[in-house]
Amino acid sequence: MANKIQSIRGMNDILPDETPAWQFLEEKLRQLMHGYDYDEIRFPIVEKTALFKRSIGEVTDIVEKEMYTFDDRNGDSLSLRPEGTAACVRAGIQNGILVNQQQRLWYLGPMFRHERPQKGRYRQFHQMGVEVYGLDGPDIDAELICMTARLWQLLGLSDSVSLQINSLGVPASRDVYRDILSDYLEVNKELLDEDSLRRLQSNPLRILDSKNPAMQEMIEQAPRLMDHLDDGSKQHFAQLCAYLDSVGIRYEINTRLVRGLDYYSKTVFEWVTDKLGAQGTICAGGRYDGLVKQLGGRETKAVGFAMGLERLISLLDQDELQKHIKHPHAVMLMMGERAQNAGFALTEKIRDKLKNIRILNVCGGGSFKSQMKRADKSQAEIALILGDDELDNNKITVKYLRANKEDNKPQQEQLSQQELLDLLTKLQ
Ligand code: ATP
Ligand code: MG
Repeated sequence: MANKIQSIRGMNDILPDETPAWQFLEEKLRQLMHGYDYDEIRFPIVEKTALFKRSIGEVTDIVEKEMYTFDDRNGDSLSLRPEGTAACVRAGIQNGILVNQQQRLWYLGPMFRHERPQKGRYRQFHQMGVEVYGLDGPDIDAELICMTARLWQLLGLSDSVSLQINSLGVPASRDVYRDILSDYLEVNKELLDEDSLRRLQSNPLRILDSKNPAMQEMIEQAPRLMDHLDDGSKQHFAQLCAYLDSVGIRYEINTRLVRGLDYYSKTVFEWVTDKLGAQGTICAGGRYDGLVKQLGGRETKAVGFAMGLERLISLLDQDELQKHIKHPHAVMLMMGERAQNAGFALTEKIRDKLKNIRILNVCGGGSFKSQMKRADKSQAEIALILGDDELDNNKITVKYLRANKEDNKPQQEQLSQQELLDLLTKLQ
C-alpha cells in the first residue's frame, strides 16, 4: 500500500461531528453582526509579504517567526495571512471605501501562523474580526466591546470570560513613555531574556507583553504608560470606561496590556478566560488610527478586534451543543425496484413542496432490516416506507421512530400522499 500523506502539523480537519458546533457559532456571529448592522467583507488568504511587514511591524512575533512566506512563480514574496486587519485596510484603501466614509465591517476565515502547535494554538486557525473606519469617539470602541459581551451572553460564556482594557495613548505620548521605559529596562538589563534584549532598542513596549515568568516581577514594577498619557487619550479612555459602566460591563484596567502588534493607539482590550490554560485570550482588539495612512491611504480613524474561533468552540458547553445538532425529519425506505423509482420521485416532490424539510433517502436498496438500521442511525423523527403493497394502495407507511411506547398514538400507520404532506408540514 502506498504511503499515506498526512495533513500539515497544526492544520486540522474539521470533521462532520465537529461542524455543527462551527455552524452554531457562525450563525450566532452572523446574528450578532446583523443586530449591529455591520457588513461582511471577504479578502484573499494570500497577500504580498510587504503588507504584513509594514502593518504588523518588523519586530513582532508574527513577522519575525510566524509567517508562512514564500516566493511565487514570478519571484514575488507572498505570505499566507496571519491576521485580517492588514488585508482589510489594504482592501479598503484599494477599493476606495474608506475616504470620507464610515465602514463597519466584519470577516471570518482561516489565518496562518507557524507556531508550535498545542491546545488552542494551531498553524491554521480561524478568526472572526470586526473593523470600523472613520469613527474616532470612545462610543464606537464601547460598541465593539458591547457586541463581544453580547456574544458571550448568546453563547452562555459570560461567566467564563473577563475583560481587560488599557490605553496606549497617541504616538507622541507613547514616544515620551518609551524613553522612560527604556531607561528602566536598561537598568534592569540583566533580568531580560534574549527576545527582550533584542527588543530593547526596537520595540521596548513589547517587553511588557512578555509571558516569561522570570521577568514578571520586573515588568510589574515598570513605569506605567497610563501615568504618561496625553490629555486627549486620557479623556478618551475615561469616556470609554463611562460607557462600559453605563451598560454594566465589568472590566479590569491592565496597564501592562500592550498587544503584540505595532499599530495600536489609544484603546486596547482583551477578553480572557482561565479555562484554557496558557491560551487564555479569546478576543483581542483596539484602536489603530495610524495604520490606514501608514499603508498609503488618507488618515482614517480605525478600531477593531479579532477572536479565535477554535478557543471559543472549546469553551462551549458540549451538552448544549448536542441540542443544536440537526437530524432529518424523515428517512425514506424503499423496498423493491418499483418502490425505488417511485420513492425517489416522491422525496423530490416533497422537497419541492416543503422548503424546510430535511429528508434522507436510504439509497442503494437492501433488506428491510438493513434499511431500518440506517433509518435508526439517522436519528430521524419518522421513517417513510414504500413497497409494492403501499404502491398498489396508493399509500405510504409511516413509522414513528421516536414514538413513546406509553403514548396512545400508533407506532405505525398508512397515510395518503396528502396526509403525509400535512404531517411533514407540521414536522418541518
Ligand atoms: P497569543 O497571545 O495567544 O499568541 P495573539 O496576541 O498572537 O495571541 P492576536 O494576533 O491578537 O493573538 O489574535 C486574536 C486571537 O486569535 C487571539 O486572541 C486568539 O484567540 C486567536 N489566535 C491567535 N493565534 C492563534 C493560534 N495560533 N491558534 C489559535 N488561535 C489563535
Ligand atoms: Mg501569538
